[in-house]
Amino acid sequence: MAEVAIILRAGREKSVLTRHPWIFASGIDQVEGEPAIGDTVLVLDNKKKFLAKAAYSPSSQIRARIWTLVENEAIDHDFLKNRINTSIGRRTGLMQSENTDAMRLIYGEADGFPGLVVDQYGTTLVMQLLSAGAEKFRSEIIEILVEILKPEHIYERSDVEIRHLEGLQPREGLAWGKKIMNAIQIHENGLKYLVDVTEGQKTGFYIDQRRNRQKVFELAKDKQVLNCFCYTGGFTLNALAGGASSVTSVDSSGPALEQLKQNVSLNGLDESKSEIIEGDVFTLLRKFRDQARSFDLVVLDPPKFAPTISQAEKASRAYKDINLLAIKLLKPGGLLVTFSCSGGVSRDLFQKIVAGAALDANVDMRIIDQLSQSPDHPVLSSFPESFYLKGLICQK
Ligand code: SAH
Repeated sequence: MAEVAIILRAGREKSVLTRHPWIFASGIDQVEGEPAIGDTVLVLDNKKKFLAKAAYSPSSQIRARIWTLVENEAIDHDFLKNRINTSIGRRTGLMQSENTDAMRLIYGEADGFPGLVVDQYGTTLVMQLLSAGAEKFRSEIIEILVEILKPEHIYERSDVEIRHLEGLQPREGLAWGKKIMNAIQIHENGLKYLVDVTEGQKTGFYIDQRRNRQKVFELAKDKQVLNCFCYTGGFTLNALAGGASSVTSVDSSGPALEQLKQNVSLNGLDESKSEIIEGDVFTLLRKFRDQARSFDLVVLDPPKFAPTISQAEKASRAYKDINLLAIKLLKPGGLLVTFSCSGGVSRDLFQKIVAGAALDANVDMRIIDQLSQSPDHPVLSSFPESFYLKGLICQK
């Protein structure tokens, strides 16, 4: 078979040479041959010199994602197995040191496997195929995961919007193994959680907040805590277990709050200290302000307001709004634990937003800690897009 190739515009080889894994449609001068969706193509510079091998995605602006910069490396079963093994190998000992059985084993581009996410929850794996290249090798990936990890189940949650950009239909369901009957029980930092991998958000749990949940555990003693965007109660459980005098948890998702209640009782925590409110955080923070309620510690962990830079401005207003309201609800000396998981909002911008909120509230806030995504979500040095979760702990 004649090899298919994409030839870059002059100058556009730079991003490949700096090891960035994406080739944008705008950087391509010509396509040689007729690559189908997900096919492996050669990436050549404008003088037709080899740069990389990549997965082709004809309908995406990210037209190709790089597999390798090595010319004689074939993209086959052994290659994929090696990448998966290496990624798992990088996490050796991490489950033990992080005191959990829930971990991201493969974080896409940052782990050298564009478009593939694999999360482990005990003996269950949850897989997301987010790119044409990962989709192409679906059956190999499943086979390799079974061979290496011997899971009880592999559940697929490729039911995300971004699949459409790759020209792929959403897919969700059991990919391998026994039917999953109930929520899966995992543990993290001495607490137990029920995780619904079939219906829950993301792959079921916000694994990336693990270390930040531990921070809240350490800070919560004797505090009145407000946990906004609480989902199934990660921060709530840690605050209660850490000795909070009360925890008010708010989320708009009824099923998430049901799971939160179960998680509180699963851990034998004091339900009388846990107030649960189903509703919109923006509205509720205003209501609390009008009622002059106050708290010692407020957690803000909203959903992604700005997936890309183009939405950053609108998102900034939303972040400022909730941070301003939260600062107003804090008692003097109180703590704000605030996050942004928007790729389109940099750490710098986020800090400026929080500073702007403090200014509008007419108070000084002191940053006492900088938080980030947990280490099983590594940030690849040549791929700043892999950094998304920013957090600040600020004291009033
Ligand atoms: N802190 C959680 C993860 C939060 S994810 C953890 O550690 O597990 C964001 C949550 O915000 C989701 O549960 C979603 O249901 C909720 N949400 C989104 N928009 C909301 C809104 N306007 N008001 C209240 N909750 C909202």
